[in-house]
Amino acid sequence: MGRVINFNAGPAGLPLPALEKARDELIDFKGSGMSVMEHSHRGKDYEAVHREATARLTRLLGLPDSHTVMFLTGGASMQFALVPLNFLKSGQSADYVMTGVWSEKAIEEARYLGQTRIAGTTKQADGRYTRVPGQAEVQFAPGAAYAHTTSNNTIYGTQFHTFLDTGAVPHVCDMSSDFLWRPTDLSRFDFVYAGAQKNLGPSGVLVAIAKKDFLAKGRTDIPKIFRYTTHAENASLYNTPPTLATYLMNNVLEWIEGQGGLPGMQQRNQAKADALYAALDRLSGFYSVPVEKASRSVMNVVWRCPTEALDEKFVAEAKKAGMVGLKGHRLSGGIRASIYNAVSLQDVQALVSFLDSFAKSNG
Ligand SMILES: *Cc1c(COP(=O)(O)O)cnc(C)c1O
Repeated sequence: MGRVINFNAGPAGLPLPALEKARDELIDFKGSGMSVMEHSHRGKDYEAVHREATARLTRLLGLPDSHTVMFLTGGASMQFALVPLNFLKSGQSADYVMTGVWSEKAIEEARYLGQTRIAGTTKQADGRYTRVPGQAEVQFAPGAAYAHTTSNNTIYGTQFHTFLDTGAVPHVCDMSSDFLWRPTDLSRFDFVYAGAQKNLGPSGVLVAIAKKDFLAKGRTDIPKIFRYTTHAENASLYNTPPTLATYLMNNVLEWIEGQGGLPGMQQRNQAKADALYAALDRLSGFYSVPVEKASRSVMNVVWRCPTEALDEKFVAEAKKAGMVGLKGHRLSGGIRASIYNAVSLQDVQALVSFLDSFAKSNG
């Protein structure tokens, strides 16, 4: 069977060369007579993969020495709890910017551990979000332990195209669904985290990029395994890391480098988003995009047909045409195409043709 065009929101499609490489190396990794996942995480073969993935991320992002890369488990949801556990000390409060479902989950976990405050929100009366706030709509409390933001809202299809300036308050950002979509200066951030399964690999590994000075301020009276410093000081080899997921991520990072790095990704992603939104705008008599133009996500594009029945029909017929993963999240309904790094312009052009023919035969 051939490969389908995959618009899944996460776990998402992976670049074919990254999978082909894994297939070719699966049984016998580099002449070692075993698979990479059968190697000790303390052996030189796996360590080389681990080091290479770290070096690639550092290179792609142009990370300065002030920052360190970590590979963690538990996904972004685990960081919703570990961030306040490490950095929200008693007597302090943490600021959260509310822009979608994941921000809500993040603050919910923090509330178990300490004081929180909403620094800004674009939640509507109907519970939905159709845009991200501008700088003037957000006030950060001087002295806050940190300010937490979500760079891309996977479910509602909104994205910060300019990051908020948190001033003197340390900036913590969940970049799970748009990490590595373009060149980004992460030196401005104190702590960034992203699960791999959207834009950089399979599920099972999470990348965190932390400012070393900020890490040093973390609590030391919590179990060692929950301290970020434990993982940072041990090059993410304190305990057994997700070796197979890290290996696959390294293949994806190699593919990104081969595509011109992050400038290449930006060009590719912008072209896809421009093509898809242009078609939706051109066909606005049939499709509607709930997101305000300035907040439209380059990664998760959401829209609706005139009726819910037509949304369902769209998803079913697209599937027959070889395009999967288009059903919107149950909270927002409608249709969503996740067009992460691995999705090609050709894939999006196929979707655009389908948008045209579906509108013509159902409008
Ligand atoms: C997918 C996602 C998460 C949750 O990731 P898990 O790995 O399932 O914990 C958190 N934040 C954002 C922005 C996401 O897109």
